[in-house]
Amino acid sequence: MPFSLLGLSPDLVRAAGQLGFATPTPIQAGVIPAALRGADIVGCAQTGSGKTAAFALPLLQRLQEGPGRTPRPTRALVLVPTRELAAQVGEAIRSLAQHLPQPPKVAVLFGGVSVNPQMMGLRGGAEVVVATPGRLLDLVQHNVLKLAEVEILVLDEADRLLDLGFAQELNRVLWLIPPVRQNLFFSATFPPAVQALTETLLRDPLRVNVPATPSNEPSILQRVIRVDGKQRTGLLRHLVKDQGWEQVLVFVATQYAAEHVAWKLYKTGIFAAPFHGGLSQGARKQVLSEFKNGQWDMLVTTDLASRGIDIAQLPVVVNYDLPRSAVDYVHRIGRTGRAGESGVAVSFVSAQTEAHFRLIEKRQHLSLLREHVDGFEPLDDPAADPAPATGGIKGKRPSKKDKLRAAAARQL
Ligand code: AMP
Repeated sequence: MPFSLLGLSPDLVRAAGQLGFATPTPIQAGVIPAALRGADIVGCAQTGSGKTAAFALPLLQRLQEGPGRTPRPTRALVLVPTRELAAQVGEAIRSLAQHLPQPPKVAVLFGGVSVNPQMMGLRGGAEVVVATPGRLLDLVQHNVLKLAEVEILVLDEADRLLDLGFAQELNRVLWLIPPVRQNLFFSATFPPAVQALTETLLRDPLRVNVPATPSNEPSILQRVIRVDGKQRTGLLRHLVKDQGWEQVLVFVATQYAAEHVAWKLYKTGIFAAPFHGGLSQGARKQVLSEFKNGQWDMLVTTDLASRGIDIAQLPVVVNYDLPRSAVDYVHRIGRTGRAGESGVAVSFVSAQTEAHFRLIEKRQHLSLLREHVDGFEPLDDPAADPAPATGGIKGKRPSKKDKLRAAAARQL
């Protein structure tokens, strides 16, 4: 079905076409007609499935209704959990709005950078605000922004925004916006607790669930390699050379490990850069754009990079440290195989982390073959692997001491 049959205006269809969107993805086909009617929506689809345009296109069309006003009232609020995602979503909305006769002003607000340019950008108002919750609340407190006229609330990566880390801030935002509004919530996963929360916030929502089927599932080859913790860096280096990998995203458990592993690889001639929440916003932005441009072979990152960030055609993801949960596993491997490209997701598993990985497999209904690589065969002895290589077995969070010990062990 072409975009023109979804009820969108020719200006929006043209912009989608210019971005190379020939036909709607399943989530777009499911969401757009209902969102144009004003329905509340819970969209559950794999990462990389085209969720941004699924909410941005109907949002833009609905904002065309009604006369333009000055100052511009904020009519649509898009909340996202990370700065990178805020920038990316803001950019996507602007591109899709490019041919509209009255394109809305889009303000992108996130922390970690000076507040002044964002304050200036809000002068005269902005019809669309894309923001992380903390900075949004700061600006409201400074009276630079009012949310009393919000008509549409979008939560992107809703599971993260609704979980405990953001719950307080999100509640404060909900107090500031009108109770009668359109809600569009999107995420790759909706765990039961989050699902229950959405019930209380949404009015009779339409659930658009795009299950991963062979036709829309990004083709991700999932591999598991058995290796002792201490051998992982050597194995990674070997695989990069042996398999000719370019543009690899490597997940580790801590900011320290991101720095440490990147540095160890860099010293041996692999252009690896760390990427984590401890870097300044400027550094994060620069590293990410350099990685996207192919200036770095590898980004060694915490779970910060596991959600939302769109790096076109990322070919390889490596779980150097295993994710804490099955949900995190889905988000991480979703960084590859995006928009129909094929990708490889490799997990390093040791005798010590095998039980944890089995739990992930069980939750994901997977049963993956364990591979061994010549020269890196594990001793299969937990004592040979002192580093607790995961973020921890679920239910037992590693203490600060555990993390320090793990970091020290990695240095051996
Ligand atoms: P998202 O899930 O919104 O992060 O989108 C993932 C990627 O798919 C982005 O690079 C989009 O530009 C691209 N995309 C979104 N919609 C379409 C479409 N209908 N056809 C082709 N590519 C698309």
